[in-house]
Amino acid sequence: MTETELKALGVVRDADLKPLTTFAVPAEAKFYAEVKSLDELRRLLSHPELSCEQRLVLGGGSNILFTKDFEGLVIGMRIDFLEELGETEQSRTIRVGAGRSWGQLVDELIERGWSGLENLALVPGTVGGAAVQNIGAYGLEVAERIVKVECLDARTLEPRVFDVSECDYGYRSSIFKSDQYADLIVLSVVFELPKTFEPRIAYKELAAFFDGKMPQMPAEVAEAVKSIRRKKLPDPAVIPNAGSFFKNPVVTRIKQRHLLEDMPQLVSYPLAGGRAKLAAGWLIEAVGMKGRRVGDAAVYERQALVLVNYGNATGEQIMALAAEVASKVRLRFGVKLEPEPVII
Ligand SMILES: Cc1cc2nc3c(=O)[nH]c(=O)nc-3n(C[C@H](O)[C@H](O)[C@H](O)COP(=O)(O)OP(=O)(O)OC[C@H]3O[C@@H](n4cnc5c(N)ncnc54)[C@H](O)[C@@H]3O)c2cc1C
Repeated sequence: MTETELKALGVVRDADLKPLTTFAVPAEAKFYAEVKSLDELRRLLSHPELSCEQRLVLGGGSNILFTKDFEGLVIGMRIDFLEELGETEQSRTIRVGAGRSWGQLVDELIERGWSGLENLALVPGTVGGAAVQNIGAYGLEVAERIVKVECLDARTLEPRVFDVSECDYGYRSSIFKSDQYADLIVLSVVFELPKTFEPRIAYKELAAFFDGKMPQMPAEVAEAVKSIRRKKLPDPAVIPNAGSFFKNPVVTRIKQRHLLEDMPQLVSYPLAGGRAKLAAGWLIEAVGMKGRRVGDAAVYERQALVLVNYGNATGEQIMALAAEVASKVRLRFGVKLEPEPVII
């Protein structure tokens, strides 16, 4: 491809990905282009040479770790709009572009006094990323508010719409993360938001924050969530990270009981179907890895679930530290830790 052709399509060659991810590790993309509309995306994907390249969509880059350069086309998702589709007595339906900042969306809804997403305030990333990852925090998973996910099939360039029941949402998972659906690019997401504000504050830290008082407005819950998050999580703009690095492992209730017999302080939550979720942060702290630092890669000293980059860590160094953490936890508890971010 000539430089003129690349320029016409808004494509940058050998693009620096470091400023585009919250982990801020060094990596380059062979090609990088940002798209603000479906037309721009189609134009990019229908170019004969670019269409043969392997592809990766990047939203806010807040749940991804590059361990090497990406030898293909990285698409920066910037399709950004918010549209009201209608309302009933019980709910409002909105459609939001995949490139809209998630935090901005939550703040906008709160400003209108609309409830439904307040527990997910201050989660970084985009609306598309949220629908792919099924973000969750403080007692709410986004799948509970999603009605439809609207996509483009990058191979056929045909639109595809998925009802929430077809997305196979689970704990930080969806069909959009599976190899079978790797060609799908999320363009927009349709949410249904309840009109009646039903504060969800059973989550331990939120309950403690409100201390028996009942919030009257979604803004109060959002402010509480923000204040708790700011104390607990490092701001990626100051200390680069991707939030929780490990998923909370899910084990059988029998395994949970055995672990509790040994360590009654273990933090765990019962789940349906004879299973239980263990607090990965607790397990990591228990094996003495909280605060462990190798070069600039570290386990955050205030929250063991978060791995951070103190400046010049590479993706490989972060992964080496993650492997050390996981191995210690496996040896001590017989529990497997899996990374939450997408590893490239
Ligand atoms: C400080 C911090 C706190 C966090 N707290 C939470 C939290 O409380 N709860 C939680 O669940 N997560 C949390 N996260 C993780 C992260 O914010 C979410 O997973 C977020 O939804 C990722 O969105 P993104 O746009 O940044 O996705 P990216 O990191 O850009 O991409 C993640 C994956 O989604 C794919 N993807 C992104 N957009 C699209 C699209 N439009 N179409 C197809 N595929 C796409 C990418 O290819 C990649 O595989 C946190 C991260 C940080 C840094």
